[in-house]
Amino acid sequence: MAKKDYYELLGVDKNVSQDDLKKAYRKLAIKYHPDKNPGDKEAEEKFKEIAEAYSVLSDPDKKARYDRFGHQGVNGGFGGGGAGGFNMEDIFSQFGDIFGDSSPFSSFFGGGGGGRRAVRKGSDLRIKLKLDLEDVANGVEKKIKVKRYTACKSCSGNGSKHGNSLQTCSTCNGTGQIKRVQQTMLGQMVTTNTCPACNGEGKVVIERCEACFGEGRVLEEDMLSIKIPAGVAEGMQLSMSGKGNVPARGGVAGDLLIMIEEEEHPTLKRDGNNVAYDLMLNFADLALGADVEVPSIGSRVKINIKPGTQAGEVLRLKGKGIKDINGYGVGDQLIYVNVYTPKALSQEEREMLYKLRDSQNFQPKAGNEGKGFFAKMKDFFN
Ligand SMILES: [Zn+2]
Ligand SMILES: [Zn+2]
Repeated sequence: MAKKDYYELLGVDKNVSQDDLKKAYRKLAIKYHPDKNPGDKEAEEKFKEIAEAYSVLSDPDKKARYDRFGHQGVNGGFGGGGAGGFNMEDIFSQFGDIFGDSSPFSSFFGGGGGGRRAVRKGSDLRIKLKLDLEDVANGVEKKIKVKRYTACKSCSGNGSKHGNSLQTCSTCNGTGQIKRVQQTMLGQMVTTNTCPACNGEGKVVIERCEACFGEGRVLEEDMLSIKIPAGVAEGMQLSMSGKGNVPARGGVAGDLLIMIEEEEHPTLKRDGNNVAYDLMLNFADLALGADVEVPSIGSRVKINIKPGTQAGEVLRLKGKGIKDINGYGVGDQLIYVNVYTPKALSQEEREMLYKLRDSQNFQPKAGNEGKGFFAKMKDFFN
């Protein structure tokens, strides 16, 4: 399913201020809120989509990547489907406060007097991934080992022995929060703090799980399969939702962030979606014409040099470049024709060249000034 444009989803333009963005999101979030549209799958999907759009556009770093690379720049081409693996818990834990405490939706958080308990999210994992030009050009699936915290299996992640040696925190009665009412000059003020006895978890461990020493998570080596779309570039960051660390004693896993590094190709240079190749030929090949083989992405190709080709000409191999990351076609391979001049000459070669130099046909033609390499390059880039 093609993803919708984030700006379109929120009905804002690229230069929207953070304030207006928040307003636009709030308005739509209330309209499509699941409490207002019970059982309406379409509204729920929309609710997720706008939350995803807001999560990207409200983050300056992600917004910049989205502006530059589109959807691929912010959520890679990974799994997820639908609204990129966004779930309701994520949305409320991240943007719940957008509705305000007095909103009609506070019941959604399952509080009922106790207030909402935020879903904890584990830390993100960052890795660098080196790709060669062929991987970049066509996309690739890489298997990589990642050391990450995953939920402990013996206690299902809550840190207690066999997962059931827990009791409700008596300090906060299981709400995870402590409310204090203070009399101030401005009247009554209610402050809510995280319960120190249970760290806001609402439950305390009686006997610890032995497998994870009560942490609820273990460090494991995980083999992940990462699908890299074609056309990624150095410095681009892809993310795999939920493949980061699980927080201690339960919660949602963070993300795996994959920073792309491009390995330099020995002879081909990337220029956007095109690749450039410097072809060195001797003067005889240019004058007589020749069939030569040049390296291309993942293969070698034969090209024909026409008799009378000038140094500085640029030949184009259509579609032999890099696939565009947003699906806008494929780049080309550009072959820059250079002439190779030998440095040491034998006596025999010297004599042949003396003869050629004096031949009438070898004099540069009058009227060809200003049509050389520089002029060609100027045409090329304009
Ligand atoms: Zn407590
Ligand atoms: Zn455990």
